[in-house]
Amino acid sequence: MNPLADLKNDLELRKLENLYRTRQILYSPQGVEVNCNGKKLLSFCSNDYLGLANDPRLIEANFLGMKKYGVGSGAAHLISGHSHSHHLLEQELSDFLGVERVLLFSTGYMANVGILTSLMSRNDIIFQDKLNHASLIDGGLQSRARLRRYDHLDTIMLESMLEKIENKSLIASDGVFSMDGVRAPIENLIQLSNQFNSALLIDDAHGFGVLGENGKGSIHALGLSMSKVPLYVATLGKALGTMGAFVAGSEELIETLIQRARSYIYTTAMPPSLAEATRASLKIMASENWRRLHLTDLVNRFRAGAKEFDLELVNSDTPIQPIILGNAETALRWSNTLFEKGILINAIRPPTVPEGSARLRITFSATHQIEHIDYLLGELRRLSEN
Ligand SMILES: *Cc1c(COP(=O)(O)O)cnc(C)c1O
Repeated sequence: MNPLADLKNDLELRKLENLYRTRQILYSPQGVEVNCNGKKLLSFCSNDYLGLANDPRLIEANFLGMKKYGVGSGAAHLISGHSHSHHLLEQELSDFLGVERVLLFSTGYMANVGILTSLMSRNDIIFQDKLNHASLIDGGLQSRARLRRYDHLDTIMLESMLEKIENKSLIASDGVFSMDGVRAPIENLIQLSNQFNSALLIDDAHGFGVLGENGKGSIHALGLSMSKVPLYVATLGKALGTMGAFVAGSEELIETLIQRARSYIYTTAMPPSLAEATRASLKIMASENWRRLHLTDLVNRFRAGAKEFDLELVNSDTPIQPIILGNAETALRWSNTLFEKGILINAIRPPTVPEGSARLRITFSATHQIEHIDYLLGELRRLSEN
């Protein structure tokens, strides 16, 4: 049968179920205020946590990088696409984190797929938290290893699963969960991975830049050495405000990924100018602690305000503050009403989150002001009282 034959019906069905997805067109940079189809909106849904995506210093570095290297990288890293600026960025990231080596990937999705497909194969087992990012799930599927998913944050369930196997295994978890902002039980995961001789992968896309001393991420935030987590991934498109990702780990790990990871080998390197912008961003991120302190103030203000009325918050202390609304229809209605009031927040619906847990995923940026939080709280209160 032709796979194109059913598309129309399937799309109609999605609309009926309030699961149809559409895109908002932006006519402005990321920021507190964005221009969306000509309408000015207060944005609470970017991952630009530190407010650096439109920082003039990054723009300048990007521009100078283009003057020096041109626009495109022209090839994959292993052909002729690996510029001196990519190389410097890798060194600066590994010095910053105190790890042996770092390898840049063009996206976080590709970094996760690259690690899992390079290290795992048929008959191996990958344990994953049920709320892990899709790229970890997809990397696991692509590796052909068996996937075992444990309930969100449930390390007791994970332990009982680990007890039953003798295969080569790997535990993968978001460091901060992208859809609820909750921190992973990293210390327990380290302990279990040691006890059962399993590898541990922490994907810190939402922790790097946001948590820990100078933004060094979830592992540093616990006062632990990076060497406790042999496979560490972070992305550059979120707190750092640019694009791309990196894997941090041992010399042998990085050399292995260079030899094996197909999502590294068979794809064009990120533009060198973007590596230059990221180098500038890393310096700002590490030195401007006020951005993280201000984020904490915003989160505290929001949570204190939301507790005064009946909003279902999640146990998150990060800039990701979802409001769980249950069904997709309600989440969509709230998102649309907020849009009318000049606030941009997406409704996150299944299959991105489990059935019955559709939500507004609210995120804060260091460029938000307390007044913005108060305005948001006012509109949320009105919605919750309806
Ligand atoms: C965003 C995200 C990724 C993917 O990173 P990209 O660079 O956007 O491909 C991977 N893991 C997590 C947890 C994420 O939130």
